[in-house]
Amino acid sequence: MSNNDSRHQNNLRSILQALPKVELHRHMEGSLRLATLAEIAREHGVDIDSYAIEDLRPLVQMVDDEPNFQTFLAKFTLLRKFYTSKESVMRIAYEAIADCAHDNVQYLELRFNPVAQAAHQGFSFEDVADWVIAATRQAQNDFDIQVRLIVQMGRHEPEYARRLAELAVARRHDGIVALDLAGDEEHYSAQKFVDIIRWAKAQGLHITAHAGECKKCPPENIREAVELLHADRIGHGVQAIRSETIMALLRDRNIPLEICPTSNIQTAAIDRLTRHPLLTFFRHGIPVTINTDDPSISNITLSDEYLVALRVIGISFSELKTIILNAARAAFLPADERAALVAKLENVLKKFTYPQETPNAIHRKD
Ligand SMILES: [Zn+2]
Repeated sequence: MSNNDSRHQNNLRSILQALPKVELHRHMEGSLRLATLAEIAREHGVDIDSYAIEDLRPLVQMVDDEPNFQTFLAKFTLLRKFYTSKESVMRIAYEAIADCAHDNVQYLELRFNPVAQAAHQGFSFEDVADWVIAATRQAQNDFDIQVRLIVQMGRHEPEYARRLAELAVARRHDGIVALDLAGDEEHYSAQKFVDIIRWAKAQGLHITAHAGECKKCPPENIREAVELLHADRIGHGVQAIRSETIMALLRDRNIPLEICPTSNIQTAAIDRLTRHPLLTFFRHGIPVTINTDDPSISNITLSDEYLVALRVIGISFSELKTIILNAARAAFLPADERAALVAKLENVLKKFTYPQETPNAIHRKD
């Protein structure tokens, strides 16, 4: 990289850092700081070989791993061991929100799977949900950020679905706004979740579902999420690129996609960022949004993902602003609060200009 290029890159980074952001797809389970993991491990004697940060890193981050969906998912198994106490659950939730606030995320929907926090110590799902709610309240007081929570159910754990849906519905006035279906889409169907998800929706929760995420996940899973689960948004949905019909369905029904570019590479959902379907979806009129998925597993921030979208995927700066507003319009908020968020962001975003449109979209594939 020449001096000019690196100055340009630094300039772009600081602009992206300052942009007001919206994050709709971030897992608390994939947002644990390495330093916190090491500290909790040391304090509570977590059963791992070494507590040194650099030894921990490859266990919980995609470092030299070959891109692979199952390798990516396997990182979450070890991470469940770190919820050792009420304090550690609250600290992890609080820090996940603090990290977003430091990246100038103005509105965050943080998803968490109470089974992950409860499993190791045998806490009750209801207790951990209340701890996450309390930590969220505290973080919103301390930082300039608005946060809503999504309760996530794992496809491989249908036995917990009813309890999770019920606890989410019971806390729908305490900041829990939606249910998410996530996890191993390669091996587990959504069928067992249809009734409970429809019930939760009838009780007033919104629905999002990971569908069409991995390479072996057919685009038809996206139709299933929309038509059977009545999903309001789709997590990833990148396999829609393989089907004109599914792309048309998303566009015609105005279903937002929660796109997470780096995660898609690490799970081998797509082969190369230069071939990421984000741009095609955008041009097709599908409301796309940009998110991190699991920032600590991928070692990224939302600013990094915006940079990837601009420099590698090839969207322009004004398209990026539209995508941020797409995310605000897709927020699981009451209509008046959503409109206020959109208006606030519109107002701030129009002050941001970038002198050269799409500074270095050298890889843009038309
Ligand atoms: Zn996800």
